[in-house]
Amino acid sequence: MTSSVVTRFAPSPTGMLHIGGARTALFNWAFAKANGGKMLLRIEDTDRARSTDESVAAILDGLSWLGIEWDGDPISQFARVARHKEVAEQLLAEGKAYRCYCSQDELAEMREKARAEGRPPRYDGTWRDRDPSEAPEGVNPVVRIKAPREGQIVVRDHVQGDVTFAAENLDDFIIMRSDGTPTYMHAVVVDDHDMGVTHIIRGDDHLTNAARQQVIFEAMGWPVPEMSHIPLIHGPDGAKLSKRHGALGAASYRAMGYLPDALCNYLARLGWAHGDDEIFSRDQLVEWFSLDGLNKAAARFDFKKLENLNAHYIRTSTPDALYAAMVPLAEELERPDDKAGLEAHRDTVLAALPELQPRAKTVVELIDGAQFIYQPRPLPLDEKAAGLLDDDARALIGRLASELTALSAWDHDTIDAAVRSFAEAEDLKLGKVAQPLRAALTGKAVSPGIFDVMLLIGQEETLARLGDIAV
Ligand code: GLU
Repeated sequence: MTSSVVTRFAPSPTGMLHIGGARTALFNWAFAKANGGKMLLRIEDTDRARSTDESVAAILDGLSWLGIEWDGDPISQFARVARHKEVAEQLLAEGKAYRCYCSQDELAEMREKARAEGRPPRYDGTWRDRDPSEAPEGVNPVVRIKAPREGQIVVRDHVQGDVTFAAENLDDFIIMRSDGTPTYMHAVVVDDHDMGVTHIIRGDDHLTNAARQQVIFEAMGWPVPEMSHIPLIHGPDGAKLSKRHGALGAASYRAMGYLPDALCNYLARLGWAHGDDEIFSRDQLVEWFSLDGLNKAAARFDFKKLENLNAHYIRTSTPDALYAAMVPLAEELERPDDKAGLEAHRDTVLAALPELQPRAKTVVELIDGAQFIYQPRPLPLDEKAAGLLDDDARALIGRLASELTALSAWDHDTIDAAVRSFAEAEDLKLGKVAQPLRAALTGKAVSPGIFDVMLLIGQEETLARLGDIAV
């Protein structure tokens, strides 16, 4: 492959960057990078009623968060309307397209007739050969492409193989509407050509479009980019994942506490494979990525797998990188107390992270786990912690507090020895002391090692918290 590879990601800005779109973008990015090429970003904003600036911003934000970088400025499809018209004019001038003056009623009649005769409801080519001088007055025509009337259109697809469409099933479709705007089908081809796109990687819901687009490419004498139509992502039940499913935008995954590297790794495996490798870095993805690795079978989205992968990335990330994800996430989740606490206790949080990491599957769990560091007293107790602190346990905490007050040093070994000898004196197993102690010091039933917690918050705070609980 030469360095002339150009791919593109072409989202319609009518919502967030959904997870299927993110995967498409990732594959385009990886393929471009793997070949020293470029990935361009085209915003398909010709549907003015449904396209919004917020959606454009959400898509750019989602891509940036995922670390999927595009080359150059995003290209607005709508801004290229004049060029789409120009190409349509050229096709008209060359007799490869024609103006059609059929009214809605005539089209409806045509469909009805086709149906009655058991044919698919297609445009019958009325104006294909009719003389333009017969055009009715005052009717704004649409422009239709002259599609082949017989034979086959073969889409040579890298994933699907050769996909054959009978020409009779692809009628002379519209490339310019009567209001002078290009259809999506036409705009995509003109843009892909002008942008120098060499490879199209997108969802297989566009496979039929590919056949129609090929008709336009060929009418213009333009090379057809190499196509790869990837199977859509299915839900765990095998049903198609809905674009509109709110929980599935990239930003929702961020809000759920997934790391971009984990999500990219997961998405890459969802429809692409490199042997049995499940965990790989971005660099490895780029190194290994080839169109041959794209799967033909639909992948099923598996939350458990994503969560396990995320847990792996959390375990193996540096505290600094995780801290850098926790603070903005606390803000995004509108948890101002957490944001302020994390910022005010940065060093302690960083010191605690190696203890928190093995216990968390998401960044949200890291934030929850760090709360004991900065939450003001008296600490709120979650249900499990409250359950551990009955009257006996509170009395036990009171006796322990007295022992700990007496300690003149506060290091791991001293604390360890004091708590152990206290447990022995009480004739209790260490765990029987550690559990209520943990509940009292963190408000939770799960936390880093209890001696680490005591070291992290210090002797004074430890004693104060125990005092809040003791009876
Ligand atoms: N705008 C289309 C979509 O969001 C993609 C078009 C294409 O990739 O050709 O589904």
